Amino acid sequence: MTRTVEADYLVVGAGAMGMAFTDALVDHADVRVAMVDRRHAAGGHWLSAYPFVRLHQSSTFYGVPSTVLGGRLQEHGPEAGLHERADQPAIAAYYSSALRRLVDTGRVELFSGCDYRGDRTFVSRVSGQEFVVPDDCRIVDARYLSPDIPAETPPPFAIGDGARVIPANGVVAVEEAPSQYVVVGSGKTATDTCIWLLGHGVDPDAIVWVRPRDPWMLDRALIQPDPSIYLAMVADLMEATAAAPSLPELFLRLEELGIMLRIDRTVTPTMAKAPTLGRWELDLLRSIEHVVRLGHVRAVSRGRLELEGGDVPVRPDAVVVHCAADGLKLPGRVPIWQPGAITLQPVRAGFPCFGAAVSGYVEATRDDDAEKNRLCPPSSYGNTLVDWAQMNVTGFRATAAFGAEPDIKEWSNRVALNPARVPLDTAPSARLDDALARLAAHTRPGVARLVELSG
Ligand SMILES: Cc1cc2nc3c(=O)[nH]c(=O)nc-3n(C[C@H](O)[C@H](O)[C@H](O)COP(=O)(O)OP(=O)(O)OC[C@H]3O[C@@H](n4cnc5c(N)ncnc54)[C@H](O)[C@@H]3O)c2cc1C
Repeated sequence: MTRTVEADYLVVGAGAMGMAFTDALVDHADVRVAMVDRRHAAGGHWLSAYPFVRLHQSSTFYGVPSTVLGGRLQEHGPEAGLHERADQPAIAAYYSSALRRLVDTGRVELFSGCDYRGDRTFVSRVSGQEFVVPDDCRIVDARYLSPDIPAETPPPFAIGDGARVIPANGVVAVEEAPSQYVVVGSGKTATDTCIWLLGHGVDPDAIVWVRPRDPWMLDRALIQPDPSIYLAMVADLMEATAAAPSLPELFLRLEELGIMLRIDRTVTPTMAKAPTLGRWELDLLRSIEHVVRLGHVRAVSRGRLELEGGDVPVRPDAVVVHCAADGLKLPGRVPIWQPGAITLQPVRAGFPCFGAAVSGYVEATRDDDAEKNRLCPPSSYGNTLVDWAQMNVTGFRATAAFGAEPDIKEWSNRVALNPARVPLDTAPSARLDDALARLAAHTRPGVARLVELSG
């Protein structure tokens, strides 16, 4: 028998987006929420992530609005003085307790191990039990930007007989050290994997790094939950943007300002997903000299890589590490509120958890969908330089829209997920005053220039 689940909202996906939205919603509205996820618990892709993954930003920028993740400064190591970054077990434990808090309200239930089938129905993969929600239950699509990860996505290339190909997760379980590792990918998973291998004593010359595109990355020391640091960075960025002749020249200027980093200064990156990176990581990554830039891998066979731009010989015992899953989806922006579903997306540039949370707050406190869409126009993730520029244009416009609402402004200044917040207890400082003054002076011309540069 199909069981009817009485709920006001059905949130499909209990990953970071679904959790942040639900947390804000139930804290500001007396509603019942059913969450459904095919995984066994809340936390999304983090539950299957490679074991040495860490948040690339301060933990405080991640999670749900009601409960701060992290918040301490690192005391030791290469990032001493920067905010802590949670690792996989800490993220999984955090979502387990965040869910418990939601369930303890008596108004939230997670249907784990269940597949949403559309048409308001979902089914348990475990028992086969079918469920349906009533017509007046609002569907929330919290998987629209769900990333692909190597552990769950086959490599995007053919594998010939005798070739050793493993997902990034697999490097921790290699039984016998090969004479060569081939890391395939240009994103955060690939940089993390290279750093993990180097950190475990692998000679940089024993690593071949297949990098179809070179990435621009943000200096992590400037993406910190301290308004005098973060807002000063944004002020520098907008001042440089207002004067930029072109996007490639803007990024070179941002590099001069110490905001953007690239691994190889003889190559102009074309990728701007802009994760953050520590300068210690940059030094390590620069020790890998055997970098292959011949496009995407088409096929791997024993001792050979076949790429779009030619073939490359590798050692017969080489272990090829798949870090080429699409971790940052760009399905196209759609209005967050539509009759059929609420589709969660970032709102300010990047920071998806804040985007989902402010959408939850707006859903709880506003009635009209057109007004909700006016306050929270979606942003998208960066990829090319133009995508990055458009992401920032839409992000700034959204921030101006919701920031003009006194209650949302007050709420977002209290929420640690908001990187640009100025908490009420912030000590006055000349540096912060200067940053705020320069932001006021450069944001409008900067955004106008971004519009021109992004076409
Ligand atoms: C390795 C990695 C590191 C990252 N690091 C950061 C970082 O440090 N900071 C940052 O801000 N962002 C980071 N990101 C970006 C990341 O995409 C987002 O932060 C965020 O985690 C995405 O969460 P999500 O809820 O959109 O997706 P997911 O975590 O994938 O959650 C979606 C959930 O939907 C479920 N689902 C999908 N379809 C169905 C269905 N039909 N029925 C039932 N359930 C379904 C899935 O099982 C999944 O659990 C990282 C991404 C990756 C891959």
